Amino acid sequence: MPGDRDEVVLSGIAASPGLAMGKAIVFAKRDVRVPFRRIQAGEVEVEIDRLKRAIAESKRQLGEIRDKVASEMGESYARIFDAHMMILEDSRTFQEVESKIRDGYNAEFAFNSVFLRHEKDLWEKGDVYIRDRAGDIRDVRKRVLSVLSGTRRVSQELSDLQTDVIVIAHDLSPADTAQMRKEKVLAFATDIGGRTSHTAIMARSLEIPAVVGLQNVSSRVSDGDSVIVDGNRGKVIISPAPETQERYRLESRRYASFTRGLLKFRDLPAVTIDGHTIMLSANIESHEEVGSVIEHGAQGIGLYRTEFIYIGREGLPTEDEQYEIYKSVAEAVKPEPVIIRTMDLGGDKFLSAFESPKEMNPYLGWRGIRFCLARKDIFQTQLRAILRASAVGNVKIMYPMISGLDELIEANKVLDEVKDQLKAEGVEFDADCEVGIMVETPSAVVIADELARHVRFFSIGSNDLIQYTLAADRGNEKVAYLYEPLHPSVLRLIKQTIDVAKRSGIWVGLCGEMSSDLVCAFILLGMGIDELSASPYVVPAVKEMVRSVYFSDAKRVAEFALKTTDPAKVRQAAMENIGKEFPELLL
Ligand code: PEP
Ligand code: MG
Repeated sequence: MPGDRDEVVLSGIAASPGLAMGKAIVFAKRDVRVPFRRIQAGEVEVEIDRLKRAIAESKRQLGEIRDKVASEMGESYARIFDAHMMILEDSRTFQEVESKIRDGYNAEFAFNSVFLRHEKDLWEKGDVYIRDRAGDIRDVRKRVLSVLSGTRRVSQELSDLQTDVIVIAHDLSPADTAQMRKEKVLAFATDIGGRTSHTAIMARSLEIPAVVGLQNVSSRVSDGDSVIVDGNRGKVIISPAPETQERYRLESRRYASFTRGLLKFRDLPAVTIDGHTIMLSANIESHEEVGSVIEHGAQGIGLYRTEFIYIGREGLPTEDEQYEIYKSVAEAVKPEPVIIRTMDLGGDKFLSAFESPKEMNPYLGWRGIRFCLARKDIFQTQLRAILRASAVGNVKIMYPMISGLDELIEANKVLDEVKDQLKAEGVEFDADCEVGIMVETPSAVVIADELARHVRFFSIGSNDLIQYTLAADRGNEKVAYLYEPLHPSVLRLIKQTIDVAKRSGIWVGLCGEMSSDLVCAFILLGMGIDELSASPYVVPAVKEMVRSVYFSDAKRVAEFALKTTDPAKVRQAAMENIGKEFPELLL
């Protein structure tokens, strides 16, 4: 009985800030059941009919979800479901399943084996983009199978939630998260994932408190248990004692009024008490978040992750389609800038649906600029669209995952070719559009002086830089204890990058999650960073932190951080400063 149990506190990774308390609904790790049965000739038509009805029902469900997602989250999320619908409309695949049924197999088995084979074929082709299609097929396969076998799926349940709940799951796929009735989801907590895993990124953009990487929360909690999710500290408290509940009630009230209060600085600059100003911008994953960027008082967009335009859809986005998207973002934030990062597919990005990627080391594999340079056709189309959008706003281009000089030179060459084409066609664009790179591999830091000659800015990608420097997978909760942003090696690499940028006369920002962590942001400020780009939701808190400290203190603590080897001491030294006037910032 909930309430009779002792309180249990689980620690995970704080993925999205905020506090929530409520009743749990649990989605443990489970796959759909695939019954196997040989059938008689007389049953064939019955099975085909069952299959047709299940497909029709699945399409109906998809249509409903699509409309809901489109109205609540926007078209780019909704397109996932167009792709799913098209898979179900493919008559060749349907004929294959039908012929398997005619060979004497029940509908579930026939359907599952044909779809599994397609999934496997696509997966083995090894192309990141194609693998994403395999993920769509898997989602569709599970949907149809659950309709056939009469069981409900996680995403169905999430889209149908009637009461306010805390969602506890082994993992949530992008489709699950997109379909959540978010007004009913108070918070979520998952067994797997890191701070930069897809679920975490989605949670922040939905502004739902979340803790990930809890390892076994889905087996520790039962439906109906009382649970507190503390997205600020990365804790989940199961069956909280009455005093704990009272403490959290107070704290969440205080936190809510604190975050509301922060918005009063919306239109003010991020300037320290002693007059040092930095640029404070926001990261987005979808153009629909642009409203949130403005609402939270960010100065433009420091990182627009464009991957979502490419995933979960049938075919590639056209140049015009991309142009319309980029143009709408550029127009919405101008005269402030938007830094559009060319697609960074690969690694764990949006591939969390796959539990066993076939690349042995996907983070070290075919991702980011490597993919772009291998698929120049896709890259050129994106560059054309971005450049065209540069005619209407303050657009900058950024390449991800640069690890060597040749890559950068080659990417710039492709960009020059695209500019020549546009010029020849008489298409307008900003010929002086700034180009920069993500500095997110240790090799890029080491040769930063060489790279700086070919770009106008650096944006440090600390999410990846930390994982590559410390050899600790950013999405793996088992090594999360090693993933330490304040590790001296990470701080020294960041400082080195900042110093090289200054010496080279280019500006330097940081768009990884360190910008959203107040302690790290304080140290970065002290190191002389020019720009921080954080999740829109946390921009007000970062701004408040900057406005409440002295640059001279930040510089002193940063110097200390670069000398000491103990991250705990660095955190403590920073806390002493940023918590002085605003203890809420210590949350
Ligand atoms: C980073 O690596 O810090 C970054 C901002 O890029 P992403 O999280 O998209 O890899
Ligand atoms: Mg990165």
